[in-house]
Amino acid sequence: MSNKKLTSAQGNPYFEHQDSQTVGPRGPVLLQDFMLQENLAHFVRERIPERVVHAKGSGAYGTFTVTQDISSYTKAKLFSKVGNSCRTFTRFSTVGGEKGSADTARDPRGFATKFYTEEGNWDIVGNNTPVFFIKDAKKFPDFIHTQKRDPKTNLKSHTAIWDFWSLNPESLHQVLILMSDRGTPYGYRHMNGYGSHTFSMTNNDNQQVWVKFQFKTLQGIKNWSDDEATKLAGENPDFAQEDLCQSIEKGQFPQWKLYIQVMSDEQAKEFRWNPFDVTKVWPHQEFPLIEVGILELNEIPNNYFAHVEQAAFSPSQIINGIGFSPDKMLQGRIFSYPDAQRYRLGANYHQLPVNACPYGYHNYQRDGAMATNPAGDTPNYSPNSFDDIVTDEKYKNNNYELDSNWVGHYNRNENEDDHYTQPGLLYTKVLNPEEKGRLIQNIIDHMSKISGPKREEIINRQLCHFFRANIELGMKIAMGLNINIDTNTLNHSK
Ligand code: NDP
Repeated sequence: MSNKKLTSAQGNPYFEHQDSQTVGPRGPVLLQDFMLQENLAHFVRERIPERVVHAKGSGAYGTFTVTQDISSYTKAKLFSKVGNSCRTFTRFSTVGGEKGSADTARDPRGFATKFYTEEGNWDIVGNNTPVFFIKDAKKFPDFIHTQKRDPKTNLKSHTAIWDFWSLNPESLHQVLILMSDRGTPYGYRHMNGYGSHTFSMTNNDNQQVWVKFQFKTLQGIKNWSDDEATKLAGENPDFAQEDLCQSIEKGQFPQWKLYIQVMSDEQAKEFRWNPFDVTKVWPHQEFPLIEVGILELNEIPNNYFAHVEQAAFSPSQIINGIGFSPDKMLQGRIFSYPDAQRYRLGANYHQLPVNACPYGYHNYQRDGAMATNPAGDTPNYSPNSFDDIVTDEKYKNNNYELDSNWVGHYNRNENEDDHYTQPGLLYTKVLNPEEKGRLIQNIIDHMSKISGPKREEIINRQLCHFFRANIELGMKIAMGLNINIDTNTLNHSK
């Protein structure tokens, strides 16, 4: 017989787990059956608020190892020596669907990694796409509303999706990537990850550069066709979770090579696009990928809820030697991600094992819901005469100069309304003829579902964006949607 006795949540052994305490064999049930109360009360509190975005996810612990010296760019201790390594936790996700939605949906994929470094936790919280639909966080709630459910019908609305995209041409780059083969990746192991935003790095001499992060899959890129993804959504909606768990359990640990792209401040001033605009990439030829290290995922956590559901990522979580940039989307996320975690998990979310810094922390924040009191009896105010917590100049933020000191709501700077060149390059330079064909068919199928009195207006507005990126692209989509185009007008507009 096992020594492990069935107990209440506070360790009191008890016997009657199947039968409630009643008056007579047929009931009624006594209120004093506290174990009945405890089990029912805990059960109805099992769910916490679902993430508004990235609700469906999978996660694994792993290791990051530095393979190339980038200490000339950053003073981060992690990067001080080739061979340095740290533990990591990565969470992948879809974006628009609810917690029970299909893993194979056409959607960007979240790709978030927490590096547990000696100088605190560092999060890269990106997607499997290098760009995003909007470049200012002020648009985020409205954009996400179009990806979620209609307030009246509670259905997803292709009309709302294309209405918003067509009215926000800055989304075109990400829309093309989403509608390409990479919009339906084969699980999570066969896709790249991008930090998307521009960050900064500062070295030991306090010289600063701008950087972007890219994880390239070492499993090779693999995607589902639209038909395969749709079929699998019915047959195995948890495909990506199963694929990740099974490969790690078999000892086939997925790996990604981490690279950075580096831009000097002088280059940033000369760059033909705003280097802090998250709807743009930095061309590889001008800003080549510099190898940094290898991320390997090698441990599925022993409890999904405790680790994957409660994992809390934020781009605000940076380490000494890595900093922010003026990117307006990044600046919005710096506020909104920790805010979401405080709402979902509470003010002490950083004390949960998956989020806690394994090297501890020392500050004057105290109490709050679910505090585990890691500071013990040390003073809760500063300055004080009792503790030995010190501040170190080496962690001082760099001063830097802004381009402008004029306050305003700027919606367009010089060169920032070029929403078309980079999507055009994706179409002409990167995709082969078969990939172009599938991109066009996916767009036609998706746009065919636009309905209602504004259908024609929305389609025409969006077609203009496709035409401006590439005339062949616009023409083929228009033909697929049975829209007649006056080619004389097009030739004239060229
Ligand atoms: P490159 O030819 O040097 O790079 C093209 C990039 O596109 C590669 O990183 C490739 O990833 C990626 N790619 C291939 N197919 C797709 C797809 N369907 N969706 C998204 N990315 C894809 O070109 P440039 O750097 O000059 O950029 C040209 C265009 O490539 C850009 O306008 C942009 O649309 C796209 N791109 C550029 C990236 C960048 O950081 N420069 C990053 C990703 C896309 P892989 O190497 O893994 O095959």
